[in-house]
Amino acid sequence: MRLTDRINRIQVSPTSAVISAAEQLKAQGVDIADFGPGEPDFPTPDHIKKAAIQAIESNKTKYTATGGIMPLREAICAWHKRELKSNFEPKECVVSVGGKHAIFNVVSVLVQAGDEVIIPAPYWVSYPDIVKYAGATPVFVETTAEEGFVAKATAIEKAITSRTRLVIIDSPCNPTGGVTPPDEYEKILALCRKHSIWLMGDECYSHFVYESHKPYSIASAAGAKQNVIIVGSVSKTFAMTGWRIGYTLGPAELIQAVIKLQSQSTSNPTSIAQYAALAAMTGPMDSVPVMLAEYARRRTRIVEGLRAISGVTCEWPGGAFYAFPNVAEHLTGRSALAKDGTELAKMLLEKAHVAVVPGEAFGAPGYLRLSYATSLERIEEGLRRLEKFLARAEAAV
Ligand code: PLP
Repeated sequence: MRLTDRINRIQVSPTSAVISAAEQLKAQGVDIADFGPGEPDFPTPDHIKKAAIQAIESNKTKYTATGGIMPLREAICAWHKRELKSNFEPKECVVSVGGKHAIFNVVSVLVQAGDEVIIPAPYWVSYPDIVKYAGATPVFVETTAEEGFVAKATAIEKAITSRTRLVIIDSPCNPTGGVTPPDEYEKILALCRKHSIWLMGDECYSHFVYESHKPYSIASAAGAKQNVIIVGSVSKTFAMTGWRIGYTLGPAELIQAVIKLQSQSTSNPTSIAQYAALAAMTGPMDSVPVMLAEYARRRTRIVEGLRAISGVTCEWPGGAFYAFPNVAEHLTGRSALAKDGTELAKMLLEKAHVAVVPGEAFGAPGYLRLSYATSLERIEEGLRRLEKFLARAEAAV
């Protein structure tokens, strides 16, 4: 079958691949310690579910405006202003089918063949492929564990060329948990302004930050709107991954272009999910600190547990809900267990029944990503299995 060049340029999301391999084993009755899924294990709060039920019962089940119902666009702007100190108007807001769709749309309307997009690595799996699908070229800027996986303005500046159109900053970052400090973020914005480049801030994990970090948006910086595009989502903050609601905040002209694209592709996001998101954005947020406190407990346990395993190092993630251990010692030299992280992840799944995502998926060979959006009890079990597998494998050498 002849498929287009653009679809052949991209691959199936590697995180989905791990999740489906783990699901297959689970379906055969295998007990998997599953660190794969990047989604909260908490239910969507009741008041949000009730709003959706009410939307169905009052027949809000028809097409809506392509860019989302106006009360939701207003609520997103008001929520973002209250929570993250921005200043957007509804004409600068569009609702999409999740944060991934928002990013896909922004990239589609902003870049094309010949353009370059700067992406700090390790990166969220979908950025490079979304950029490639748009015909542009991803340019990676390495970040290091020693620097907390934070992209530095100086490193980004070195990667800028006359073709650079966009810089993507994911803070807190999936997979590393790295949080870009406000002063560094503002330096990156200043750089983007100097070179007339767009800065896209992915805020999907904005409210899951630990210790001294606070939720922060680059849209709160001085002269914020200039060169700034924000993408966000209710998926993680409100435990609503399945509802598929995300948003973009940015210049009205860009928003109009995204709405035009949606008008010829998805049309509006699901009406019922929009009413649920409206309840999320306007209702109580008490579930957020409850989830954060639980993630914080799990973070302590998983990072300490990983650090206790021989040949494994692990930084403290500043945000999100992923541990990102370095297992390079198990991949090199005479005692190497596997040739790379992908092979190690496969062995861990098949032999130790632990599901993790290999670092290669995020442009970080030598690392594994473990989501701790799973119970403490499952974390303990997974750590036991990991330790046993890696120790046994070492002993066998
Ligand atoms: N951005 C990042 C960094 C993510 O990790 C994810 C999901 O895992 C998304 C965006 C998209 O989330 P959603 O499409 O569920 O809103």
